[in-house]
Amino acid sequence: MVRPPPRAVDDVRDVTTSRALVSTVATAEGAADVEQIGPPASPCVSCGACCDYASDWPRFSTESDEELALIPEPLVAENLSGMRCEETRCMALTGKVGERVACSIYAVRPVVCRACEIGDDACLMARAHHGLPPLPPA
Ligand code: SF4
Ligand code: SF4
Repeated sequence: MVRPPPRAVDDVRDVTTSRALVSTVATAEGAADVEQIGPPASPCVSCGACCDYASDWPRFSTESDEELALIPEPLVAENLSGMRCEETRCMALTGKVGERVACSIYAVRPVVCRACEIGDDACLMARAHHGLPPLPPA
């Protein structure tokens, strides 16, 4: 499986305005503790394709030991190279890809996750993999 192209570290930036996963999945009944991150209209909250794309992604890169320590151990890959995945799906992802998703560790997610941009090459590849239509850059 082709994974999203690696992102340049110097391209990393706070993407809370473009990648708007929420920390808790909203249910049909409504979850009282939903923490919205980013604009409610972001397509990321109804996508999650790039969080379920490759078994070895997301990888850790420039995180400090202190930052990595904030990620719950059961969600870290055995070889400590990145997030633990179940097949291709990051285990921090909750919800259903293409419908409603959340990142359960949004505030402490890896650097590469922060670099994801709506409509970039990796986004388009991941969405196509899940049969989702392409999105224009945010
Ligand atoms: S694939 Fe694109 S739209 Fe979907 S969650 Fe990732 S960045 Fe957002
Ligand atoms: S850590 Fe969060 S944002 Fe990163 S791939 Fe996993 S679910 Fe997605």
